[in-house]
Amino acid sequence: MTAEQLFYDKKPAFDRAAPEAVAAYAEGYKAFLDRSKTERDAVKEMAARAEAAGFTAYKRGQALKPGDRIYQVNRAKGMILAVIGEKSLAEGVCLTAAHLDAPRVDIRTLPLYESEGMALLKTHYYGGIKKYQWPAIPLELRGVVCVCDNGEIKKVEVSVGADPSDPKFVITDLLPHLASEQMQKKMTEGFKGEGLNVLVGSRPVEEKDAKEPVKLAIMRLLHEKYGMKEADFLSAELCCVPAFNACDIGFDRTFVGGYGHDDRCCSYPAATALMGLERIPPHTCVCLLVDKEEVGSDGVTGMKSRHFDTFMGDLCRSQGVVLEECFEHSVCLSADVCNAFDPNYPDVSEKRNDGRVNCGFALVKYTGSRGKSGTSDATAELMARIRTIFDRAGVAWQTAQLGKVDQGGGGTVAMYLANRNIDTVDAGIPVLSMHAPFEVISKLDLYMAFRGFEAFYLA
Ligand code: MN
Ligand code: MN
Repeated sequence: MTAEQLFYDKKPAFDRAAPEAVAAYAEGYKAFLDRSKTERDAVKEMAARAEAAGFTAYKRGQALKPGDRIYQVNRAKGMILAVIGEKSLAEGVCLTAAHLDAPRVDIRTLPLYESEGMALLKTHYYGGIKKYQWPAIPLELRGVVCVCDNGEIKKVEVSVGADPSDPKFVITDLLPHLASEQMQKKMTEGFKGEGLNVLVGSRPVEEKDAKEPVKLAIMRLLHEKYGMKEADFLSAELCCVPAFNACDIGFDRTFVGGYGHDDRCCSYPAATALMGLERIPPHTCVCLLVDKEEVGSDGVTGMKSRHFDTFMGDLCRSQGVVLEECFEHSVCLSADVCNAFDPNYPDVSEKRNDGRVNCGFALVKYTGSRGKSGTSDATAELMARIRTIFDRAGVAWQTAQLGKVDQGGGGTVAMYLANRNIDTVDAGIPVLSMHAPFEVISKLDLYMAFRGFEAFYLA
């Protein structure tokens, strides 16, 4: 046999898809990204798309038949979509799991203060950020405030900075002229969490004797617009996210740049492939979109929450099936991003095994760090099943890992699903500048992920 027949060759897959289809799919994704800068926004956007695609909100105890399309939202921050298949749930489900949260700068519970004639908000960063990347970029303020007024609770949505006429916010940086000390520091020490304070105003109230005249003026604005008093920050979830939209990158427009590709670039194709199914799938297909992955998957909306088990238990009960039996026969694509080999930083990657842009949907047998710690490590049998599904459907795929073995590493939700006795493998899209306020992916990889999820659901 020839080398061509015997060797595995990871190469760009431009010849495997029509450029028009790839470009058109990316347009839909960019629009989704711009409307989904927090997990709450993403859930709202996904629920609207699901309704338009014939999904209805699931009611416990409701009878289900093959072809039914249902969804359930978990506390406005996570959701599950399902299309009921021909076979019994006892034969398992085809499950995809991705996350909707992304690294950002959360607003602290008592954030507003005044200093030197300026009003600022204290923050608490969310997820693994490089702190130096967040000052000196325009920020939006997003989230909800549950205003408590005389026993009445009113939930108010906050979104400032997305509309072109809106003001934006910023964390200031130090001018280079006075930064010689800062520039000598290690990159982990050049910026402190306590220094990531967001500038929100400077006009004082007119009263001469006001103690904190700028803070008071800002509180008056917040009260006027949202009915808020300072204590209402305590029952709020507000965060700052980058105030720029997704765009094409490169003369040839082969990339998409944007905030929150990790992990909306997997959530979007996993969900849209399910919504787009044109026939009833053999197995019931479930797309799980969770929150809190970036901070360890704990909490009521994270992957470790029993919300998923409760939903699946409800479905199983309607068919007289035991949940454990359903899980035992289920297969999961844990859909999360991996690093793309970056020519600017070649030293941290291992060329043969790391993901590469444009080489397709990336199968990651194991993640983890320091000797596979914190991974589920998919079985050889499962890897064979999945690559065969992709090959049959003509999906361009590649293998990937997370950098050189001693370099670091990371984890995904895969192990929490595998721990439930569900055969699970990681699959995702290689990302450049992962966890930066502006990340980059290839349109071709995004499209191949969509095709891969579709083939998986119908297998
Ligand atoms: Mn991720
Ligand atoms: Mn991440």
